[in-house]
Parts: sequence; structure tokens; C-alpha cells
Amino acid sequence: MKNIIIIVVDAFRIKNLSAFGYEKETDKYLKKIGKESLYFKKHFSNSNSTAPALTSIFTGKLSKKHGIIHQVPYTTDKEFDDFEDNKKFWLPSFLKEKGYDTIAIDWIGLWFKDGFDYYEEKEDKDSQLRRFMKIPKVKRFLLTLPNWAYKFGKKVIKTRASEQFSPTKETMDLAISKIKTAKKPFFLFVHCWDTHFPFPNTKFSPSGKKDSEEIIKKLENNNQKEYIKKRFTDINLESMQDIMDKYDLTIKNIDKEIGRMHKFLKKAKLWEDTIFIVLGDHGTSMGEHNVYFSHSGLYEESIRVPLIMHIPGFEGKEINEMVQNIDIVPTLLEVIGEKTEDELDGKSLIPLIKEGKKIRDKILLVDGLAHNITGVRTETKKLIVAKDKTCHLCKANHHEGTEEYDLVNDPNEQKNIYSGESELMKDLT
Ligand SMILES: [Zn+2]
Ligand SMILES: [Zn+2]
Repeated sequence: MKNIIIIVVDAFRIKNLSAFGYEKETDKYLKKIGKESLYFKKHFSNSNSTAPALTSIFTGKLSKKHGIIHQVPYTTDKEFDDFEDNKKFWLPSFLKEKGYDTIAIDWIGLWFKDGFDYYEEKEDKDSQLRRFMKIPKVKRFLLTLPNWAYKFGKKVIKTRASEQFSPTKETMDLAISKIKTAKKPFFLFVHCWDTHFPFPNTKFSPSGKKDSEEIIKKLENNNQKEYIKKRFTDINLESMQDIMDKYDLTIKNIDKEIGRMHKFLKKAKLWEDTIFIVLGDHGTSMGEHNVYFSHSGLYEESIRVPLIMHIPGFEGKEINEMVQNIDIVPTLLEVIGEKTEDELDGKSLIPLIKEGKKIRDKILLVDGLAHNITGVRTETKKLIVAKDKTCHLCKANHHEGTEEYDLVNDPNEQKNIYSGESELMKDLT
């Protein structure tokens, strides 16, 4: 049986990749790997946030079916209960049962640890203080303070909310050392976090430019103003361009590390025995649609992410049909010749890869950072219905009522064309 490696790059924006037209080459190695792999250019997450997206990647099911709709800590007790009740297929446990050595390099823990023989839990090595900071309630309390008190509070606690993110170099070192000692076949899951705001492990020299105050002044919602001030405090930069440049640097670093892994697999003669997957769990927004340095809302910035899949025996090519993260599990099962009794939402990508057969005409989406926002995207249109729409993070409304976009003539989703009815409404209900 083939080894399987899944590398998730957190908050991975296609707009900052040269493979998608960005003017800077941030993704030299990913492009190289993409050439000998299947590079899916129209791949979408099911959600704009980590917990529901990762759960879909490991179950092949949409949020509504696996239960986890909202990002932790906004996940409700009912969602956890639904998840436990519906839990049948779970990729790590399934592979473990089939004889795979299962290894994860991540730190979020929770139910994501299930089924792994080895789960790198940074938490155990953390200081008491940092563990205290990880309690969502403490984080949330700090966020309720005015910015000066937030700054002070962070100094006193001497940590920042995102310091637990593991540097990608360390992550990849550990991943490579684990492959060396793994029994074959192995399943390795690696989560790279450096691309997640505030990009804590990236050395960056600020330009000295300042436009943060101007940006904040233009915001209408007072809660959001306070929140964005705190985001600038977190990153210790005062210019939008600097933040973008720092983000680019994180992509470059991750790209280099994934390139190193690729080289290692080739040298160890494992590449042709390994299904190798790189994808983003969700995207991120850099000011588009009034979303700053987060992934709220169901606009393209938050939900469209790269997917690169190397399957031994398949030549490299670019695929421009729509696919979704729930399709990864059925594809893997087909490649390794296994089946599940469980009813999945995803479809195997093999007919698309082999015969160019279109496998889906719509993408269903749910917002994990607001109470009740759902969406559906087709090749040409997107419909978003926002019922309970307050953003959990900044308390602004990134969506208003019902929105429909013509993605052909308006790919940046600027003009709401919803007229009171939409042919896409039935897909949502
Ligand atoms: Zn994420
Ligand atoms: Zn927000």
C-alpha cells in the first residue's frame, strides 16, 4: 500500500502565489512539485475556518453531516454531540486499522488526535503561563479590553495568543525524522502554521511606513476598530504593505520547507510510493471585503485554496474543474483500493483526473466564524445567505442578508446582484 502525506498550510491565500498570477515568486518549489503532480486550480474548502475544514478533510463530509460547523471556541455543545454521534469514518483511524503507521505533527489536539499513533503535542512542553494563555476564555477576556490595556495585558502575561504556532522548519525537521523511523506504509499529517496571522516565526524588517491609523479610521464599526487595532498590536507593524510582505515571506519559507521534504522523499526513494498532498485549510483576507488579516466570510479570499496532489502513476497536469476538500478522502480510498460503508459527501477525483469527467457543479459552504451564514458556489455564480451574521472575531457584519455574485464578470465579488430570488437558493435549503 502507498504511503500518504497530507500537508495543510493554514490560511493559504491563492492571491499571493505566482501559480495563480501573483507578481512575486513566493512558491518556487510548490510550482515545481505541481508540475509533477495534479495541480487543482479551482479547489475550495467547505469552510472559512480550521476546525470544520480539517474535520471535512479527515471525514470526506460537509459540516452539516459531520457536525462541526464553527471554529473552536465557538463550537457549540450540540455540534460536539452531533460529531460524536455521527462519527464513523475518520481517516487516521481508518488507515491505522488498515495497518498504517499514523503520525501527526500539529498542536491543536482536540479530536484531531484520534487515530494517530504519534501526535506531536507541543502543549506538553509549554510553560504553565502559556498553557493559561491557551484557555480561550483568557484570550477572549483580553480581547474585550481597550487596546492600551490589551497591550499591557499581553506584556504582563509575556506571551501572545499565537505563540504556540510551531515554526515550519522545526515542524518539517520532525516530520522528516518521523518518516525515517516509520513503519511502512505510513500516514503522515503535517500542519504548517506560519502563514497564519500574526506570522510569529518570521523575521521581518519593517519599512517604517504607516497607514494603520488611516485604515482603522475608515472602519464604521467601533468594535471592529478596536479589534483591528489589536491585530496591528499583535503583529507590531503599522503598514498594510509590510503585513503583506511579511505574509509573502511566510509562504516563501513554507514553500522552501515543502521543497526540502520533496527532495528528501526523492532521495529516500519514497516519492513513487507516496501519495503526497499539499492544500490550504482555508484562505485569508488582507482587507478585501472589510476583513483584515482573518478569514471571516465566504468570499473567495477565505474559501478558495490551492490543492496539489501527487499520485504515483499519474502524470503531472493542471486541473481547472471545481473540486472540494471533501473529495480528498474518496480519492485516497480509490487509490489505495479501500472502501468505507459510511456515506461520504465527497467524490473521487480519479474520473476527473483520468477522463476529464466533471465531478461537481456546486460547492457548499458554511461560515465557521459567524452564527449562521451559508453559501453555494457554482462555476459562474455565488449565493450567500447571512441570517445571524455578526463576526465572532471583530463583531462587524461581513455579509448583509442575501448576496449573489456573477463570478464571470465580477470575480472580486463587488456587486451584489441578488434580486429577491435566485436559482441557487434550492441548493442552500
Ligand atoms: Zn486554519
Ligand atoms: Zn470580522
